[in-house]
Order: sequence, then C-alpha cells, then structure tokens
Amino acid sequence: MTTHLYENPIFLEHKVPEGHPERPDRLRALNIALEHPNFAELKRLEASKGDEDLVLLAHTEDHLRSIKRAIPDDDINQFEADTYASAMSLEAALTGLGGAVAAVDAVFAGEADNAFVAARPPGHHAEKNRPMGFCFFNTVAIAARHAQTVHGAERVAIVDWDVHHGNGTQDIFWDDPSVLFCSTHQIPLYPGTGAKDETGVRNNIVNAPLSPNSSGEHFRDAFRSRVLAALENFRPDFVLISAGFDAHHRDPLAQINLVAEDFDWATGRLLDVAGRSADNRIVSLLEGGYDLQGLAESAGLHILRLMRG
Ligand SMILES: [Zn+2]
Repeated sequence: MTTHLYENPIFLEHKVPEGHPERPDRLRALNIALEHPNFAELKRLEASKGDEDLVLLAHTEDHLRSIKRAIPDDDINQFEADTYASAMSLEAALTGLGGAVAAVDAVFAGEADNAFVAARPPGHHAEKNRPMGFCFFNTVAIAARHAQTVHGAERVAIVDWDVHHGNGTQDIFWDDPSVLFCSTHQIPLYPGTGAKDETGVRNNIVNAPLSPNSSGEHFRDAFRSRVLAALENFRPDFVLISAGFDAHHRDPLAQINLVAEDFDWATGRLLDVAGRSADNRIVSLLEGGYDLQGLAESAGLHILRLMRG
C-alpha cells in the first residue's frame, strides 16, 4: 500500500493551559515513534491551510463566526467548557482541514491507497453549530462532504473508535443516509450520547457502546457484530476513520482496556472492507489519545497496518 501522512508544525501552535490533556506533546510523541525504520516508506507531506469555505460543508456560518471571535490576540481563551483557543488555533484547525481534504484528493486520484492526518485540535465532538470537547471543526465530516461533492463518493462510511462518542459527527449526518456513521465508545462517559437506540432517521447511525473496564475481546465483539456487520450491508465506496486512541488501557480519560494490537486488528478489518468495495480508499484522522506512550504505540501500529495492508 502507498500511505500518505499529513503533518504541519502549526499543529503544535494550538496552545492549551498547563495540564490540559489535548496538548502539543501528543504529536511530538507520535513523531518520535515515526522515526523507527519501519516507517521509512511512509510518504510524509506538509498539510496546507484549508479554505474557510470548507468549514461550511458541515457547519453554519454562525459557527465559523463564533470560532473566529474566540481566537485571542495572545494568551489562551477558554470559549467552551474544556475547549481553549490561542492565537494560532484557527490557523491550526484550518490546516487540519487542508490536510484532510488533501488526503481525500490523494486517495481518489490514486496517488495513495490510504492516508493518515496527524493534526490537532481534533474534530469529532464539534456539532453543526457548536464547538465541544477540544474540537473546533468536525474535520471527518468535512472530509466526507468533500469526497461527495468533489469526487462523487456515494456511500461514505465513517468509523469512530475514539473512546468518546462522536456526537458531532452523529449530529451532522443524523438525517443523511449517504453517510454511515459507526462508533464504538465507553458509556457512561463524556459527552453522554451514543446509546444503541440512537440510529439516525434512516438507520445510518450505528452505536456500539462499551461498559467501563471492557477488554479487547469486548471491543472486538462489538466491532464485529455491530460495526463490521453494518459496513458489510452498506458497501462503502470510501472509508473515513475517526482514529482516537484513548480506549488504550493507559489512557487517563477513560476506563477501556485496549492494547495497541487491538487498533492494529481494527485497522486490518477496515482495510478488508475498503478492499472489497472502496478500491482500498481509507483516510484516517487523529482524534483523541492522551497517554503519550499509549498514543504513540497505538497510532504507530495503526499507521504501520495502513502501510502494510
Ligand atoms: Zn476521545
């Protein structure tokens, strides 16, 4: 497989207060893991800043205006419960969008089979009209809309294995059967949504909640019986992954006991899905993952699996 990785030093310039879990060191830890010779063939590209219009693929103009208003000239501004902006945060968030759409363009052009976007801030909690949970713009939703509008994708699947429910992605695609949204996550946990009976208006939302202290086996059972079963019916022509690594057992924000090999396994299953109906096309976007070692190991194996197919 040819795998692209999109990165940019601007992602380190989105500043948060001391002690905040969603911190620049997350990307530094991943970068160190990527120095291993295993990643010699990984094609690393610098993400460009995305146009503000991309935001409107998934959000209201009000939302974009309120994010722009939240950006301080200096220091750090708390503009939502646990979400902060610094002077370069808008630049970072827009560059995350730029990396995501470049990744989509590359897999549809056949320049890459798949791609990983190592950006922050993350995106999956951002609703149509509301930033939430460290997230400004819903990057994965914008990538899905871009694939539809520019590349004619007809059946986009978004698989979200971040330990927190992707409430924002669910909100954006609630009544849109052209997108299948599948999520595994811990319940009870922030943001409180993601019950099995939240199915969207056209059964295009599939939630697979996990109880606290669930093991890798529990995760794999839920992934097989709910996520993979739904994907088999849907036959996506493009697969997006909201790749959070906070279900790792070391993560401080949740109580699920996955190991890095569980993310490798799930990646392999999605490669099978994409190989069957999507001409291998997968774009994976970094969401959460707050233990530096757990994140680096898990994201490292995930990227290596994307490369090896
Ligand atoms: Zn998370």
